[in-house]
Amino acid sequence: MQLFIAYSDDHKKHRPPIASTHPENPLRLEIAIEALRNSGMWDKADVIVPERADLDNVLAVHDSDYVELVREMSKRGGGYIDLDTYVSPHTFDVALLACGAAIQGVRLLLEKGSALFLSLLRPPGHHAGRYGRALGAPTLGFCIFNNIAIAAKYAEEVMKLRPIVIIDIDVHHGNGTQEIFWNDANVIHVDIHEHGIYPGTGDVEDIGGNEARGTKVNIPLPHYSGDDDYIYVWKEVVEPLVFTIKPRMIMLSLGLDAYLDDGLASMSVTSKFFTFAASSLALMAKRFLGTLTVLEGGYTVGLREGLPAFVRGYIQPQIDTEYRVEPHRGVRIVVNRVKKVLREFLGVL
Ligand SMILES: [Zn+2]
Repeated sequence: MQLFIAYSDDHKKHRPPIASTHPENPLRLEIAIEALRNSGMWDKADVIVPERADLDNVLAVHDSDYVELVREMSKRGGGYIDLDTYVSPHTFDVALLACGAAIQGVRLLLEKGSALFLSLLRPPGHHAGRYGRALGAPTLGFCIFNNIAIAAKYAEEVMKLRPIVIIDIDVHHGNGTQEIFWNDANVIHVDIHEHGIYPGTGDVEDIGGNEARGTKVNIPLPHYSGDDDYIYVWKEVVEPLVFTIKPRMIMLSLGLDAYLDDGLASMSVTSKFFTFAASSLALMAKRFLGTLTVLEGGYTVGLREGLPAFVRGYIQPQIDTEYRVEPHRGVRIVVNRVKKVLREFLGVL
């Protein structure tokens, strides 16, 4: 399976006022690239230098006042846009580059078919909603523009690819993505996240607005959920859903912060799940277009161990059909609730 990585050193120009005090800092990309190099994955990739997105692509998703706020703050030297999220002098330009890196993946996958397009970008995006903070969240959670939503909108509206499935495995709920597509039935958003942590949204009963009921799927898992729990969710919900919907493109919000001891949450996922998920996506890519993968969270060991495991799983799929998953009882209960709530919309569940 072919691998493309979109990366530019310019992504490091988005930096906190005091680097060591913020988990979302340029060092993350150095960790990611070193891990990919050490595992031999970087050498297997065609590395592409991303182009900045047109402002129109960003304005298709975000309100112009919010975009202008980011531009103005950058121009004035930056600062904190809220308690969690900083803007630095280059942030506006770098954020446009991040959106561009995601959009580029849509175009390239249309051309190449079943490849993996990995956008190694910063700042992350899935908490950013139309007006900034989304669904009542207290902050933007380190995000500026919603890269994956902008790519999905581009795929949907400009390239006429419908429907699209966005799978979000960052440990935090992708509240921005969900808000943006709340009433859009062409974009199915499936979000696996840790219950009870920031941003506090993503309940099982939240299934989309009137025009799009059943197209937003939330799977809030208990603290300490691990590989078997995630693999169970993937097999019980994600796979049947994708094969029923038959999307024109699959997009993945790849957060690696559910990894054991990554630092900002309390899940116990390891490389096993990331390899499994990537292998499953690689098999899906044979039926649908390839996967556009956009980096979200992941701060330490998740980037170091989970990212290369994910990439390896995609280009050399490893599916153990004999493996029997043993999820926690609490996870089975959540999955049963998800199925019950969505059954009338997605008969397969
Ligand atoms: Zn996260």
